[in-house]
Amino acid sequence: MSKNQNKTGAYSFFNCIEKNFDKAARFLSSIEKGLLEQIKACNAVYRMHFPVKIGKEIRVIEAYRVQHSHHKLPCKGGIRYSIKVNQDEVMTLAALMTYKCAIVDVPFGGAKGGIKIDPQTISTDNIEKITRRYTSELIKKNFIGPGIDVPAPDYGTGEREMSWIFDTFLSLRSGDVDALACVTGKPVSQGGVRGRKEATGLGVFYGIRELCHVKEDMYSVGLDVGLVGKKIIIQGLGNVGYHAATFFHESGAIIIALAEREGAIYNEKGLNVSKVFSHLKNTGSILNFPESKNIENTEKALELECDILIPAALENVIHKNNANRIKAKIIGEAANGPITPEADEILEKKGVIIVPDIYLNAGGVTVSYFEWLKNLSHVRYGRMEKKFSENMNAELLQVIETICNKKISTEEKKIILRGPREIDLVRSGLEDTMINGFHKIRDLKKSSKIENMRTAAFVLAINKIIDSYEKLGIFP
Ligand code: NAD
Repeated sequence: MSKNQNKTGAYSFFNCIEKNFDKAARFLSSIEKGLLEQIKACNAVYRMHFPVKIGKEIRVIEAYRVQHSHHKLPCKGGIRYSIKVNQDEVMTLAALMTYKCAIVDVPFGGAKGGIKIDPQTISTDNIEKITRRYTSELIKKNFIGPGIDVPAPDYGTGEREMSWIFDTFLSLRSGDVDALACVTGKPVSQGGVRGRKEATGLGVFYGIRELCHVKEDMYSVGLDVGLVGKKIIIQGLGNVGYHAATFFHESGAIIIALAEREGAIYNEKGLNVSKVFSHLKNTGSILNFPESKNIENTEKALELECDILIPAALENVIHKNNANRIKAKIIGEAANGPITPEADEILEKKGVIIVPDIYLNAGGVTVSYFEWLKNLSHVRYGRMEKKFSENMNAELLQVIETICNKKISTEEKKIILRGPREIDLVRSGLEDTMINGFHKIRDLKKSSKIENMRTAAFVLAINKIIDSYEKLGIFP
């Protein structure tokens, strides 16, 4: 039994990350052991219990905020609402955030928060009460603030909760001119940035698209180059899964199956994602979608024949008991930690390309970084340069029309003249980040002869954190 396993032989989620870290450390043999231990350890864990009155009863709520790394500040990471929340899970997700931020050059340390509740069984009013109380607990202990620790959405939370967090922070820190930057993933009307909501799903799309354009990698798994016509299965139709599915569908890939809690739906010819989503909204379930077959056991959807599998729900969904039955040639980890270490080894032996979570779902934190910068600069992206660009483009066009003695149509003019809007800048920044990240990992994998993308991604991240510590120095 490995030192990373507990008495029953199972890995804890945090041990899974430690195992991946240790694999990467083999390529960092010249680095002092103590420094690697420091990078691996969680710097601060805050476990809290607070009372909330729900109806006539007082309920004690268990919650966490973990700051995995202070090598860069503020710390950054989402808040999860789930009945499965526990310290091990929050610590793991915080650690993933540290490596993720390093890979995509986002200058934050990793953090994560969690509240152990099932939001589906609690009224909106009570979720608001719990969120506000949790925020005030974080404020009391100095675990939140634009330069300290900046939460964001994760599983079970969204814009609504981020708005409440901001409002609570502002009411207790009235006059703080940078208060908007205490949390990201807010609605646009509350200081959010355009493009944040779909950022993680869009980042997943950009990352997989980049891989599909590499001839050598595609041929290694017997696939053609490009995304068009690729058969894709997505698990989880929440924020990440829904947006990823939409972008894949729009790019010409075929979504053959979608899996949710209650079951999965399948159509070999492809599912129309927006229609499935409307059906889900109208009926409360994806099942019985017209022109599709229901699969009652939702986990079975992961085992269907396909080119690309995107787990976008929860961790540990691909494990040693189903890994051998997975038929996908590529797995894109949109969720955090969807593959256990045992499954990872089985899939690697089968030659499956795994695009790891610490890179692939970093789109969310990348755009959160853009939102944080927007909040600190107090100005919308594009506000200063949009009109200027349009005027410059118009002058340039006039010169070209004169030289060529040709008039450009009004429709063509509209396209050429347009200056950058906030959404254009955010998406291009995200696209550039995901493309760069992919090639940095791939190049390192090749040059250092690293066996897979996950280990290469860890080596890349750890190297950047080492660099930070070395430049920063360690307090004597
Ligand atoms: P979400 O709550 O919006 O959606 C999760 C979806 O998964 C829900 O629709 C839920 O019903 C479904 N689901 C739950 N259990 C399932 C099961 N057993 N089988 C199939 N579907 C199931 O959450 P999200 O924000 O989309 O996050 C999903 C994953 O992506 C999580 O692992 C999260 O940590 C990760 N992630 C999210 C973000 C972000 O920006 N939201 C960023 C990075 C990583």
